[in-house]
Amino acid sequence: MTSRVALTGGIASGKSAVSQLLAERGAVIIDSDVLARDVVEPGTRGLAAITERFGPMVLAPDGSLDRAKLGRLVFRDDQARADLNAIVHPAIRARAAELQLAAPADAVVVQVIPLLVETGQADDFDTVVVVDVDEKTQVRRLMRRNGLSPADARARLRAQASREERLEIADVVIDNAGTPEQLVPQVDALWTRLTSSAPLGGVTSHTTRSSDQKT
Ligand code: ADP
Repeated sequence: MTSRVALTGGIASGKSAVSQLLAERGAVIIDSDVLARDVVEPGTRGLAAITERFGPMVLAPDGSLDRAKLGRLVFRDDQARADLNAIVHPAIRARAAELQLAAPADAVVVQVIPLLVETGQADDFDTVVVVDVDEKTQVRRLMRRNGLSPADARARLRAQASREERLEIADVVIDNAGTPEQLVPQVDALWTRLTSSAPLGGVTSHTTRSSDQKT
């Protein structure tokens, strides 16, 4: 059985940066954001269910999903957003499970799940890795990456689980308040931990969580 690793962190905390370093070391990366697009491609059951719920006006002329239109529909409508999540989230999980099963038996499979805490999936994994950054740095990076105002960036943070809630479920914490170079030794230590574990039975249990693995 492959080792199941979840990588999470707040928006713009550095999940992509860390998953890139893990991929370079040989991890099989399953990215929820990529799957979220895959499961609503034309011809999928996901897109059929969305069209049934929201009507054909959420489709672009070429039959693909018009994400901007759907986004506007669900933005201020909690029920619509819940309905959309009820379609998309199970489809993402099913696809992730398929990919996990398809990975070689000795692979370290890392699922990048931004909303791990919010969707209550931590217990599904042998190891939960949290990319951690202070909120000031997070807001600054988010503003720069997405071209957002400070108020909009802070609103995005508020819509997510808190830093404390994520740290609570962490087996391993990667501190990304420093430079990208400072991620390297931390990811190396994580990689050693993930690859030196027994192939059966997982690498750690959630009852033996270490709260911090900063180097
Ligand atoms: P996430 O995938 O968690 O949303 P990213 O890995 O995309 O976050 O990082 C968010 C932004 O911050 C990106 O623009 C990235 O280039 C930048 N970034 C990530 N880590 C660092 C770092 N240690 N120092 C400076 N900028 C960083």
